[in-house]
Amino acid sequence: MKYRAIPRLGRDVSVISLGCEGFIELDQKQFVAMFDHALDKGINFIDMYTPNPDFRAHLKYAIQGRREQIVLQGHIGSIWENGDYLRTRDLTKTKKGFEDLLEELGTDYLDIGMIHYVDEMSDLETVFESELFDYIKELKQSGRIKAIGMSSHNPAVALKAVQNNWIDVLMFSINMAYDMAPATENVDELFEKKTYKSELSVEPLRKELYALCEQKGIAIDVMKAFGGGDLLRSDYSPLGVEFTEAMCLHYALSRPGVVAVMAGFHSKEQIDTLCRALDASEKEKDFASVLAKVDNVSLSGHCVYCSHCQPCTVGIQIAQVNKFAALAKVQNEIPETVREHYKALEHHASECIECGACMSRCPFGVNIIEKMKEATEIFGY
Ligand code: SF4
Ligand code: SF4
Repeated sequence: MKYRAIPRLGRDVSVISLGCEGFIELDQKQFVAMFDHALDKGINFIDMYTPNPDFRAHLKYAIQGRREQIVLQGHIGSIWENGDYLRTRDLTKTKKGFEDLLEELGTDYLDIGMIHYVDEMSDLETVFESELFDYIKELKQSGRIKAIGMSSHNPAVALKAVQNNWIDVLMFSINMAYDMAPATENVDELFEKKTYKSELSVEPLRKELYALCEQKGIAIDVMKAFGGGDLLRSDYSPLGVEFTEAMCLHYALSRPGVVAVMAGFHSKEQIDTLCRALDASEKEKDFASVLAKVDNVSLSGHCVYCSHCQPCTVGIQIAQVNKFAALAKVQNEIPETVREHYKALEHHASECIECGACMSRCPFGVNIIEKMKEATEIFGY
């Protein structure tokens, strides 16, 4: 397992994290067996969007005696009412829902209090410009949640929350297809093939969102990295091509700001498969060569941080250099974290000897020699 830091929480989390949907139908024995298996594989980060009481009872049993080892992300505004799962912005119901959650889990805090499912601008205002947000800030001040999160599928809404510094963690839908879809308040459009019929390229708003998250230390945990499984089958894939788990995982984990990919496992074998995908070869992780085959995708000149151009003659990690240079350009001043990350690279852009060996390997025609010159100018070496 690999781990990444959630900067504003001060905890390292496994880059593969446990979504809960695969656990909902399990009885306690099955639940604990799957949960133990995930922990044995090094998973320590768990999301629980569901207010299902049985799920919570099983989780309470499973985490007994090891609560501190686990980073728990629970949802605020996701409640159980008359046997149904509901989203609410009602303050009284939200408060009761939070108290129920803690009580049902037998814990006195959540690591991340995730404001549930904010896709519309009007909803963003309802949440953050009201007493609801005062309540959530109080929860953080009192230590009952350690960090404030928000889940969303809409980059415009997420960007506003990030720009205003309202959140510490963003749960966001990221994969090769959605990254080319325009911002929308209707999440269903992300799943429709017609959204992907016109000329496609990476949506600038999404790039801006990820870069700003990285800059501000707002961690992204990724949902729908596999498009609900659609990207793994060419007949379902919105782009008409099939990717592997390793490709989807690698794509999501190589976006700026991303710390973890949430996966809704339904079996121990699925956990094993994804853990193996983390250590897949460069060839197995190579999403770029599949993406380059999609007729209406035009990524000409765009670096997607795929590393298809490696190896560099002198050992420069080209994708990393390109990523740090892009992050440095988002604001006038280079953030200290970006400067430090660049410094930590073994080889720097100024070492480029302009041999051009990498250029023919880039499926998207990126002028890498020019990019290395640009990075040298930005960082000074
Ligand atoms: S320069 Fe091209 S091949 Fe290299 S990481 Fe960027 S997109 Fe991939
Ligand atoms: S052109 Fe520069 S970056 Fe590309 S392989 Fe040669 S030395 Fe490496």
